[in-house]
Amino acid sequence: MKAVAIMFPSREPRILDVPEPRLHSPTQVKVRTLEIGVCGTDQDILKGHHGMAPKGEDHLVLGHECLGEVLEVGAHVQGLKPGDLVVPRVRRPCPHAHCPACRHGHPDFCVTGDYTERGIQGAHGFGSEHFVEDAAYLHKADDSLRGVAVLTEPLTIAEKGLRELSHIQSRLPWKVSPGKALVLGAGPVAQLGAMALLRAGFDVTVYSRSPKPNEKAAAAEAVGAPYLSSKEVTVEALKQRLGGGVAVIYEATGASKVAFDSLQVLEENGVLIFTGVPGREEPLELQGDQVMGQLVLGNRVMFGTVNAADSDFREALEDLARFRAKWPGRLEALITQRHPPSEFAKVVEAKGGIKHVISFQEHAR
Ligand code: BGC
Repeated sequence: MKAVAIMFPSREPRILDVPEPRLHSPTQVKVRTLEIGVCGTDQDILKGHHGMAPKGEDHLVLGHECLGEVLEVGAHVQGLKPGDLVVPRVRRPCPHAHCPACRHGHPDFCVTGDYTERGIQGAHGFGSEHFVEDAAYLHKADDSLRGVAVLTEPLTIAEKGLRELSHIQSRLPWKVSPGKALVLGAGPVAQLGAMALLRAGFDVTVYSRSPKPNEKAAAAEAVGAPYLSSKEVTVEALKQRLGGGVAVIYEATGASKVAFDSLQVLEENGVLIFTGVPGREEPLELQGDQVMGQLVLGNRVMFGTVNAADSDFREALEDLARFRAKWPGRLEALITQRHPPSEFAKVVEAKGGIKHVISFQEHAR
């Protein structure tokens, strides 16, 4: 069967013929890949900034944002049957007995770094016609989400981030009502983050590079998040433009300069959530004293969040249904293009559009 892969060490993208996977345990499920989403992490793997092939292999099958359809279930699998739609989680636990995170079912907080991530780090992804996965890592998606469930994984980033945000806000001795939020970036993680923040009751503004009009700005504004371009409104002018500071900043650019600069817009007790994995850009000159002063004297918190847990995937699938009801057609509009697997090398490097998806169903057979 066909798989979309990156060769190691050359990092050359290639379509490979790989063996058909088979069930090896009664708890496994064989899945037909319907779609995989392409994201910045795939680009980083291609550029050599991130990612690793499985031990002893010369290639990594890509694809960590996935929607599939169950083909076959092992004898001990409950709650899944052929024809069901499923979304797989990405990270698998490290083997170490002393890792409290992995031993408590939270490899997203792994402390050893020896986790694997399907399609990213030491384990093949879902970008092949079929794959096999343990049922414990699969989430059933409702049939009504067929057109948008490939967005589940990027939405889990916001689910985990907002879950942690509410833990942090609970340190305050009063009930915090959602205030203003600023989303940095306008790609899929930013757009889905904006939707999650809007649903949580925040008054959201999206701040990104390109001046209006552009399709990302239009997507944000269509769900009720005004869009500002950093080419037209500097970070220094942002606070005035927003009518004051913001309670939450959701960073989804992977660009450290704008992220740290945005601290000046964060109000007292505010929280800055970093979600982007930076590419290797220019070194950043940071005013350490200023940043430290902003954190200490204003009780501000900055935190990073990576990957997502079981509950975040469940919550993301429920939120996709809620978002579809609240903003009909808007999730669909984030998927700006579907491509056949043969175009994946071009797609990984594509500029423009919002979410590019590789569709196996229509083109594989
Ligand atoms: C994925 C996460 C992963 C992270 C780092 C992101 O693109 O969504 O699942 O943990 O990259 O590899």
